[in-house]
Amino acid sequence: MRVLGIESSCDETGVALVDASGDGVPRLLSHALHSQISMHQAYGGVVPELASRDHIRRVLPLTREVLAGAGLSLQDIDVVAYTQGPGLAGALLVGAGVAASLGAALDRPVLGVHHLEGHLLSPFLSADPPEFPFVALLVSGGHTQLMRVDDVGSYELLGETIDDAAGEAFDKSAKLLGLPYPGGPHLSRLAEQGQPDAFALPRPLLHSGKPDFSFAGLKTAVLTQVRKLEQQPGGITEAQRADLAASTQAAIVEVLVKKSMLALKETGLKRLVVAGGVGANRHLREQLNAACERRKVRVHYPELHLCTDNGAMIALAAALRLQRDMGALTRGGGFEVRPRWDLASI
Ligand code: ATP
Ligand code: MG
Ligand code: FE
Repeated sequence: MRVLGIESSCDETGVALVDASGDGVPRLLSHALHSQISMHQAYGGVVPELASRDHIRRVLPLTREVLAGAGLSLQDIDVVAYTQGPGLAGALLVGAGVAASLGAALDRPVLGVHHLEGHLLSPFLSADPPEFPFVALLVSGGHTQLMRVDDVGSYELLGETIDDAAGEAFDKSAKLLGLPYPGGPHLSRLAEQGQPDAFALPRPLLHSGKPDFSFAGLKTAVLTQVRKLEQQPGGITEAQRADLAASTQAAIVEVLVKKSMLALKETGLKRLVVAGGVGANRHLREQLNAACERRKVRVHYPELHLCTDNGAMIALAAALRLQRDMGALTRGGGFEVRPRWDLASI
């Protein structure tokens, strides 16, 4: 069974083809990605209308590229999967519309996939795929959640952020430091030259005793520091910017690690899966690796290039679902997107 996956929920157009023969872990045959980051950078964030239009321009050329990369043709696709939500409505509609059209033209079934389920299952495409059950730390641009995962489709929310997501905390702090959008990777690079204990920044809810998060106060603390440093003669120095970046990263990472360990303790599980864009962060990986080693917990990550949005995770999530239940498929008819959609509800 070959599944084509189309991702268009935000500012990345991703297309991929996976092969799910038998009940082994699906194999990635080919994938292609176009990031709109440079287009949105001038505006300091994603412009929804521009995003939708660019998805329209990219999705078919990327599909051709993926098929060529796998040495296959349209007729070789057995199922078309697309990101149904959550995300930007107009952007989602592009992927959904193209998937429905391909399904109708090729007479193949179509399957809508939850974007976060894609992120969450993406480590199955790594060289060291996890086994169920596990605790998942989902840290992306829009979400920060800890979940108990017993199988594909069995997601129990343990805790989540009450305000900003971890990726948002990275991006907003980075913006305050004058770094380009999305600031997470830039802040992380700047942090390499700084001291993580240079500034005492808040670790909201660190001691709440629950696997919940809050990052809004951190951004305010960074803003206050930046304003203070800019008042000094000559303004903020390069060294201070690096120190502030390192301190911000340390604060976010400390909270993520502590809450992940709490969720592992609460569930008694010995396996942690990290997913989403912030999962690419080096400092987070180092700290999680160390904490998990102390507790004899195995930790799994997506490959670095599959941490942020991509089509491979959508094709994979669809394939894993179909290996368990072919009943989810629809043929013909319309399509639906869900800009707001709770993963624990599926
Ligand atoms: P969601 O999946 O919740 O809808 P999204 O799709 O925008 O949101 P992702 O693509 O998973 O989120 O991740 C993007 C986020 O990851 C951005 O906030 C980005 O700054 C952050 N990010 C990417 N790489 C790094 C890094 N090395 N360090 C810190 N943050 C990073
Ligand atoms: Mg993105
Ligand atoms: Fe995402």
